[in-house]
Amino acid sequence: MNVQHSYSASLNAARRARELAALREAAGRPEPVVDVLVVGGGVTGAGVALDAASRGLSVVLAEKHDLGFGTSRWSSKLVHGGLRYLASGAVGIAHESAVERGVLMERTAPHLVRALPQIVPLLPGTGLSGAALVRTGFLAGDALRIAARTPSGTLPRSRRLSRAEVLRYAPTVDAAGLRGGLVFWDGQLTDDARLVTAIARTAAAHGAQVLTRCSVSDATGNGATLTDELTGESFPLRAAMVVNAAGVWAGEVTTGITLRPSRGTHLVFRQEAFGGMTAGLTIPIPGETNRFVLALPAPDDRVYVGLTDEEAPGPIPDVPEPTDAEIEFLLRTLNTALRAPLSREDVIGVFAGLRPLLDTGSGRTADVSRKHAVLTAPDGLVTVVGGKLTTYRRMAEDALDAVLTANGRTAAPCRTRSLPLVGAADRATLSHVKAPLRLVQRYGTEAVDVLAEAGGDPALLRPIAPGTQTTMAELRYAVRHEGALDASDLLDRRTRIGLAPEARAAALKAAEAALAD
Ligand SMILES: Cc1cc2nc3c(=O)[nH]c(=O)nc-3n(C[C@H](O)[C@H](O)[C@H](O)COP(=O)(O)OP(=O)(O)OC[C@H]3O[C@@H](n4cnc5c(N)ncnc54)[C@H](O)[C@@H]3O)c2cc1C
Repeated sequence: MNVQHSYSASLNAARRARELAALREAAGRPEPVVDVLVVGGGVTGAGVALDAASRGLSVVLAEKHDLGFGTSRWSSKLVHGGLRYLASGAVGIAHESAVERGVLMERTAPHLVRALPQIVPLLPGTGLSGAALVRTGFLAGDALRIAARTPSGTLPRSRRLSRAEVLRYAPTVDAAGLRGGLVFWDGQLTDDARLVTAIARTAAAHGAQVLTRCSVSDATGNGATLTDELTGESFPLRAAMVVNAAGVWAGEVTTGITLRPSRGTHLVFRQEAFGGMTAGLTIPIPGETNRFVLALPAPDDRVYVGLTDEEAPGPIPDVPEPTDAEIEFLLRTLNTALRAPLSREDVIGVFAGLRPLLDTGSGRTADVSRKHAVLTAPDGLVTVVGGKLTTYRRMAEDALDAVLTANGRTAAPCRTRSLPLVGAADRATLSHVKAPLRLVQRYGTEAVDVLAEAGGDPALLRPIAPGTQTTMAELRYAVRHEGALDASDLLDRRTRIGLAPEARAAALKAAEAALAD
């Protein structure tokens, strides 16, 4: 299934320096130096870079901080079929989501997405009509999956669960009055920031120049100023086409874009607080219809609990902060389903992200459409915002088609629907990769290359610190092949150790050692 490339998928400081130097040198030329300049290295920008490079265009992706620095790393890490959109009547978005979920799970990233059972426990608070509504929703989700041609071997059909089954999946659910439950299956990413890195590396394997710590200013339809954030040096870059994929910062890159950011917060717990839960737990928010709090099993024996939807006006911070009220709300809702309540002492980390929603002037941010928007400025600059991780590929395809049209250019047809990301292979092949399952779920077929980083030294394959299973071999691999330039890249994006500050502090020394190697 792997494609042969003439470029390497490896990103590292040496490649970045080489590519930046060549671009700086070409800065004086009057003609465009590249076909497409992509602004922003989140899931959307990485997707656009891959779409363009795999259509045969030359590409520069400029990211101010690091791959996956923005909203893309603060998501719930679900590849979802759009059940929620269906409930609000947005059939088109729901179908698009379900199709893209299938593309990721079956072709482009089977190694990074697994089928996750998600259960709704039928507690005394969930009346018969509430249960019937959830069941109807799940059946609609099955229909959506079938319409998207995703087989039940990839995502099993929804069904009713006995009381014992619910407690097997989620041992800490309140058993008093529990009538059983309902289960449906959706996709779950190993990690969102790792998906972004995989897309960007695949783009690099098709020749895209992926430049982190490189910010864009003065963007127009045919170029921008690039600044190397490590040296402070700036130079102009002429491009035949420019795509603004700066997410919640898109309005700072170009004029005429007004966003209405909405903050979503998650809490991080240890798995032991949930008794080793193996399914996602879906808990209805009291007093709301069709809104839930989710508890999701996560790598490194953690559980993420989210999420909120709060209007977040004002200047956009680099790293959004959850409020106390959000933390309390999540704990309160979670505890309606648990036998013994969890408290703030059980929380080992919190994180928040800003949804890049377009300002449509409608009521609550929770009601603003999650459909992506592609906006073309009079000078041909195209901005792509909104949407979600699940639909990044479709967003990228739409953005590239728009920028080609706006600039009167052509390229080969879009190929990304069947283009595997680095490390991807079908499930049968993945099951034979000679590496621990944990590594296969993070690196796919490249897991053997990660093992090779250890050079036969077993110490490099042991966890680097308490609270994480990450090994030194992975950190080395991230520096040599995944574009990690500093300790934060390693701890907060290539691995997610940083989601629990105590574990991050314990792992910092190892990260510094990996960079010094
Ligand atoms: C709490 C929450 C939960 C979510 N959960 C899910 C989920 O489970 N499943 C799902 O499918 N979707 C989910 N989403 C939606 C999804 O996360 C976002 O739609 C998506 O990540 C947006 O990606 P992006 O690339 O457009 O933006 P970003 O990831 O924010 O990327 C923009 C990038 O642009 C860079 N940048 C900014 N300015 C400049 C500049 N001047 N020059 C260069 N670079 C610049 C930034 O550093 C950033 O890296 C969730 C969103 C939130 C907030």
